[in-house]
Formats: sequence, structure tokens, C-alpha cells
Amino acid sequence: MRLPLAATTFLLALAMTTPTHAATPRTALVIHAGAGIMSRDDVPAESREAIRADLDRALDAGHKVLADGGAAIDAVGAAIEVLEDSPWFNAGKGAVFNAVGGHELDASIMEGHTRRAGAVAGVTTVRHPIRLARTVMEHSEHVMFAGGGAEQFADLHPEIERVDPHWFDTDRRRKQLEAAQAKEKQAANEPAQPGAYFGTVGAVALDIHGHIAAGTSTGGMTNKKWNRIGDSPIIGAGTYATDRCGVSGTGWGEYYIRAAAAHDICARVAYGGVTLAEAAEEVINKVIPAMGGDGGAIALDASGTIVMPFNTTGMYRGWVNPDGTRGTAIFADDNDADGDATTPKPARATPAH
Ligand code: ASP
Repeated sequence: MRLPLAATTFLLALAMTTPTHAATPRTALVIHAGAGIMSRDDVPAESREAIRADLDRALDAGHKVLADGGAAIDAVGAAIEVLEDSPWFNAGKGAVFNAVGGHELDASIMEGHTRRAGAVAGVTTVRHPIRLARTVMEHSEHVMFAGGGAEQFADLHPEIERVDPHWFDTDRRRKQLEAAQAKEKQAANEPAQPGAYFGTVGAVALDIHGHIAAGTSTGGMTNKKWNRIGDSPIIGAGTYATDRCGVSGTGWGEYYIRAAAAHDICARVAYGGVTLAEAAEEVINKVIPAMGGDGGAIALDASGTIVMPFNTTGMYRGWVNPDGTRGTAIFADDNDADGDATTPKPARATPAH
């Protein structure tokens, strides 16, 4: 059968405009476990190995969800729960101590294509705050619960695992509290120093359906007072996702709140006609430092492009690119000689394993 010329032209045009990636959907995952000021002396080689092993385990957990065709929001939750259970990071087990020797945990999660979001602040008995944030998103008409209210909401959901508040304690964090309080006594009127935090965790994922989700979980800042809440549980500050862009931040939270950092990165992509890399670079390396803050962020877009800018000397981070290449890194000057990479470009990353 011969098709009329118009129909042939139409079919040809359709074939040319159909995106090739529609046939081979690709996924991507990026995680962080905090930005901060540190040197190799602060993080000895054996600790670095253990930290990177935990980053890898989080990548494995999140990537498995994506590889099985699961949702970005599930991948984000799976990766973050591994990081929350790691004593190395300032979220869940190993969270920093507040000024009265307790832990107040904050978390948020957002799904880009639906713009649904959930968050909790100042919880003290929830093993996986990111799971409670997801439960707020899915099983309440609200976005955020704080303190006793968040705990009451958790009481209604037996699937939320509860622990004794001391379960989060670690000696390393207690020493950090003691050091921070000794310093505070010495310099009572001096402003807080940047980099006094480290280890907030986050994840951003792109799934096989082209959907993006982002999440962040933290113990906040060492020696924090008066139920201080940082950026991590605030949608638009520490976490944000749309159908084109997802971001999780880590750094001096007050500045991330004032800059609406995570939202600003996505908004620049949406309205500013810039790439994700340009948007993230501008916010993390110009806007926040100009205000006096510091930190980093991870972000990805709908094509699976991953960016991880930071203005501190290090940021624990890991990624799985759409082509399956993956890697982990700690310092700004990590290089690919020992399997590190400071950017997630496929050519520089270690092969998938
Ligand atoms: N942004 C977190 C906060 O201010 C701290 C961090 O990222 O390490 O609570």
C-alpha cells in the first residue's frame, strides 16, 4: 500500500521528533552526607574508607529501587534511611547533640511531578525521620509537623519505628558538643563560626518514568538552642523538587532559609533559561557566600544531569549517572586517580559495580 505524500511526511517528521530517550528511559541518583570545613587530618584514611562504604551502601539501596523500575521518592527514602542509620553522619544515629545534650531531628521530602511534600522538625524518638516526613506527605493534609505534634502523629502510625532518645548518641558527637560549649564559654559574644556543622544527609533521584524526588535529613547544628530549626525540613530551603529539577542542600541552614536556596536553584532553571549547573553554581558559590553563609547542594534535572557544588573544603557525596557509572568523593580536590571524582561526568566516574 502506498501512503499519500502528506501522511509519509507526517510519519517521517514524527520519527525525527520522537525523543530517542523515550525508548531507553534512564535513571539517576545523587546523595550527600554533608558539607563542611575539614582536612584529611580531620578524617583519617580508615574513617574515609568507612564513610565511603556507607555512601556506597546508600547508593546501592537507592539505585536498586530505580533499577527495579521503582519511584524516585522510594529511592530517595531508601538511600536516606541507610545514611540515617550510619553513625558517621549527622542524621538519625550519630546526629549532633543540641545545647541540652539531646537530639532534635529534622527531615523533609518532596515529589516533583505532584509537588507533594512532607516534613518534620525536632523529633526525638523517630529512628528514620525521612520516613515520618513521607508519612506526613501521604497520610495527612499538612506539609509539616514539629516537636510534640510530630511525635503524636508518629504515634498514630505503627510502621514508624521509635527508639529511646539516647539511641542516637555517639561519643564522637558528644565530644563535639563539649568542644563547642567550651569554645562558646571562651568567646561568649562572638558570632557562630561557619563550618561548625557536618554530616546532614540528602538524596535526589530521577526514575524510569522521568519523575524527580528530593529529600534531606539532619540533626541540625551542634549545640543548637531553643528548638532551633534549620533549612533541612523547610521545603524550598533545604529540599525542593519539580518535574524538571530536584535539590537537597547542606550547610549553614540560616542562610539556606534566607536564600530559599533549593527553590532558587530550580526557579533559575525554570524562569532564567540557565542550565542546572549554572543555577546551582550561582546559588551555592555566589549568593550564599555573599550573604556570609557556606555549604553545598546536590541537584539533578530531568535529563539525569547531576551537579554537586559546594564552597567548603569537602562534601561527602556519591552518584550514579544515567549510564550506570558511579562514584563517591569527600574533598574538593579528590581526583579520579584513587577512584574519587569531584564532578559526576561519566568520563571521570568509576565504573558501575
Ligand atoms: N543545614 C543543616 C542545618 O542548618 C546543617 C547541615 O547541613 O550540616 O540544620
